[in-house]
Amino acid sequence: MPKQQHISYRIHPSSPEAHLFKVELYIPQPATGGQRLTLPAWIPGSYLIRDFAKNIITLMASCKGESVQVEKLDKQTWRCAPCTGTLVITYEVYAWDLSVRGAHLDTTHAYFNGSSVFLQVAGQESSRCEVEIIPPEGKSFAHWQVATTLRKVRTSHQGFGHYRAGGYAELIDHPTEIGRFERAEFKVKGVPHEVVLSGRHQADLERICHDLEAICGYQADLFGGRLPLDRYLFLVYVVGDGYGGLEHRDSCSLICSRGDLPQPGEQKVSEGYRRFLGLCSHEYFHLWNVKRIRPARFVKGDLSREVHTTLLWAFEGITSYYDDLTLVRSGRIDAGSYLELLAQNITRVLRSGGRLKQSVAESSFDAWTKFYKQDENSPNAIVSYYAKGALVALTLDLTLRRHTRSACSLDMIMQALWEKYGKTGRGVPEDGIERLAERISGLDMRGFFDQAVRGTADLDLKSLLEAFGIGYRLRPASNGKDQGGLRKLEQERGTPRLTLGARIVNEGQGAKLATVLDGSAAQKAGLAAGDVLVALDGLRVTADNLECLVEQVPRGRKVPVHAFRRDELMVFKLKLQPAPADTCELWLLEELDAQQLQGRQDWLQAQI
Ligand code: ZN
Repeated sequence: MPKQQHISYRIHPSSPEAHLFKVELYIPQPATGGQRLTLPAWIPGSYLIRDFAKNIITLMASCKGESVQVEKLDKQTWRCAPCTGTLVITYEVYAWDLSVRGAHLDTTHAYFNGSSVFLQVAGQESSRCEVEIIPPEGKSFAHWQVATTLRKVRTSHQGFGHYRAGGYAELIDHPTEIGRFERAEFKVKGVPHEVVLSGRHQADLERICHDLEAICGYQADLFGGRLPLDRYLFLVYVVGDGYGGLEHRDSCSLICSRGDLPQPGEQKVSEGYRRFLGLCSHEYFHLWNVKRIRPARFVKGDLSREVHTTLLWAFEGITSYYDDLTLVRSGRIDAGSYLELLAQNITRVLRSGGRLKQSVAESSFDAWTKFYKQDENSPNAIVSYYAKGALVALTLDLTLRRHTRSACSLDMIMQALWEKYGKTGRGVPEDGIERLAERISGLDMRGFFDQAVRGTADLDLKSLLEAFGIGYRLRPASNGKDQGGLRKLEQERGTPRLTLGARIVNEGQGAKLATVLDGSAAQKAGLAAGDVLVALDGLRVTADNLECLVEQVPRGRKVPVHAFRRDELMVFKLKLQPAPADTCELWLLEELDAQQLQGRQDWLQAQI
């Protein structure tokens, strides 16, 4: 047993086959009235109660070799009987969540977030603690290495051994990967950055590093040219089909699809690689926006229950705005490619009727129960604080530029947020961004925030984008896969296609309605989410042929639809509707005046 005065954890991937970590926690000075221990209910950055404590399978306590009684107080809290001397807690954690938010262990690798595996010692949350990472036993694990941004104390060359953290919040902010992986390094502003790729892949790591260097360098310049850290780690897990990321102060944890990574010899930026770079850019931007510039309500965030803020539109939306914007500003993609991404995001927002019912401030506040707990009715009821938040950020940026003749922009607001809140560690009050935007720009912003952030009316993107030399048009989708994008010069169709107004998924022999949109033909006919369509106008329906069958229905005619609901065959009378103009096209306008051209170049900071 280590002899020391501070709390220490020993984590051991002891049973990879059973997906169990064994953790020992040493508490040299337990609370005199009995030590309480808790595990977080959620992980910062992901606003859903996940109840990580459910994965603690066994838990025992001892002191000086004698067992100590443990009482469970609630779903995530234990209390040990009082004892004198070092209290030792031994517990097993089941780790079978291959996401960036939990812990995962099998015979190929071990991954954990501290919030899944390290019990918090009540009353000693801000005390320094040590972590010892023990390698699994057995020859097949002999080449495993450790990748983490926890601070090293003394470790083997493979990274096993001792680390430390300044307190519990720091302890759980360093996701850790253990296994066989590939790593590469590059520097940004003199600070070492590392990319660790786990999972099978044949990616061109050198190219990834080259692109990340440009992305990180651009963002570092945006925030003043100096990085507030001594090292940064991109921890990437490569899978067949996956996408996700979680931000941390000194690292980010990502899951990506194998096909999104560039192959050696490949030159162009594929859609998948653009998505991957956008994800990296997003999580890196968070090292400022949300990890250091934090909502005041998160500064002493209670990890045992929901913490509500109306500001996620800014912390996620502004980050989502800058993730793709960074790609064009750092020269990774051209302006056309950026407009394609922007048009797709505008389309995404326009296709959600919930945008007219929920503001981004409300969406932020209710993230826990609505955005993170989406159901069949979500498209009708909620708006994404990511997707619309990014459009609010765009509108804010262009409005500031337009009304100050480019003397002010969102870049300046971000720099001011960094100076005032990020560097000082003070939390951003709920009205802090609005106040700062007014102070920096000298404009009265209340009307803007009332409409864009607290209101549900559509943003006036058309006139704003046109003032910056970008053409904007809405049209009906040309097929089920049409997500909008750069303007296509193909012949316009004379009559818009017909639509059912539902989102469809494959279900056995039929087509299942995942969502029925408000006001749609499907809803008016009485169809509901969960119905499995089997025939349309007497012809067999599948998810693949539905679009084609819908097109063949004569306009204005009601046709029978056969569907199963609760295994009962039902018939509905359906009158299809013309597809709404909910698909956005953007393009670079030609013949601009000097002011438009300058405004566009300043905004995209790209030669066009
Ligand atoms: Zn994010």
